[in-house]
Amino acid sequence: MTGSMIDPFGRAISYLRVSVTDRCDFRCTYCMAEDMTFLPKKDLLTLEELDRLCTAFVEKGVRKLRLTGGEPLVRKNVMHLIRQLARHLDSGALDELTLTTNGSQLARHAAELAECGVRRINVSLDTLDPAKFRQITRWGDLGKVLDGIEAAQAAGLKIKLNAVALKDFNDREIPELMRWAHGRGMDLTVIETMPMGEIDVDRTDQYLPLSKLRADLERVFTLRDIPYRTGGPARYVEVAETGGRLGFITPLTHNFCESCNRVRLTCTGTLYMCLGQEDAADLRAPLRASEGNELLSAAIDEAIGRKPKGHDFVIDRRTSRPAVSRHMSVTGG
Ligand code: SAM
Ligand code: SF4
Repeated sequence: MTGSMIDPFGRAISYLRVSVTDRCDFRCTYCMAEDMTFLPKKDLLTLEELDRLCTAFVEKGVRKLRLTGGEPLVRKNVMHLIRQLARHLDSGALDELTLTTNGSQLARHAAELAECGVRRINVSLDTLDPAKFRQITRWGDLGKVLDGIEAAQAAGLKIKLNAVALKDFNDREIPELMRWAHGRGMDLTVIETMPMGEIDVDRTDQYLPLSKLRADLERVFTLRDIPYRTGGPARYVEVAETGGRLGFITPLTHNFCESCNRVRLTCTGTLYMCLGQEDAADLRAPLRASEGNELLSAAIDEAIGRKPKGHDFVIDRRTSRPAVSRHMSVTGG
């Protein structure tokens, strides 16, 4: 199975993001409706099946694996999966095993994550105000997330903070969040809201173009574009006043698809070749059809052969429907 996966546009696929559960202990307003219907447990791949799928991708050239969700740390026994996957770090087949988390369960798991060979993680944090945190996550407790961040840093994990930039919610707070992150040795990345899934609020009210945020920041800070990359779509600047890095993920104002190196797997074994398109391939059937990986490998090759050139995200008053019907928590952010 060893080899590399090259899509029709010549992009090598070296990065797999895996949503290990669609469930979450938060209900962030831009991500989920408050009353969500989750997948029945019987539809989920087992942890063993997730391991087998991830391993097949590693054998086919994936060098970076990110577990996400939903909230990856609420999947039962997820640490067992992480321990299993860590063998690919030990063998040198994988460069990086990481996760994106809301931080709520991090205090409990930080030390074990570090022990498994996880070096860096992304923690999502949109505000440092406890009341606003509760408002945006609906169910979250800021104190727990801050404890999680502290525990992760104490365990030696490097943290990048992700904040979704929301108009009239946290736009004026970004400078404070950035100073806070940089003061603690963390990079901060700001993300534009993407039109994914039906939610209870109007996305046009939330949408803040990052070009506007950057212009506002430049009135106070000196931002210098730098070529730093983490394998993701963020473009970074160095902030002279703090000495830290600030990333911008701008799917709407600047399309980053030309350098896309990733595909996304859901907890039911569906492979999405693009976050912003509906086309998907079922890998569960070939996975379950035989103990060997030939069918699975052929299904992966066929799917990579259909990876589209890019997404068509747009948020405006005329386009009331989301670009894709599934929530970010299904495909994993
Ligand atoms: N629960 C974990 C967390 O929040 O970090 C992992 C999954 S979450 C879907 C991954 C990232 O996607 C988070 O940083 C979240 O803020 C972001 N996200 C969710 N819905 C989004 C949307 N509609 N537009 C932009 N980012 C979104
Ligand atoms: Fe949960 Fe993450 Fe979505 Fe928030 S962004 S509801 S924490 S999956």
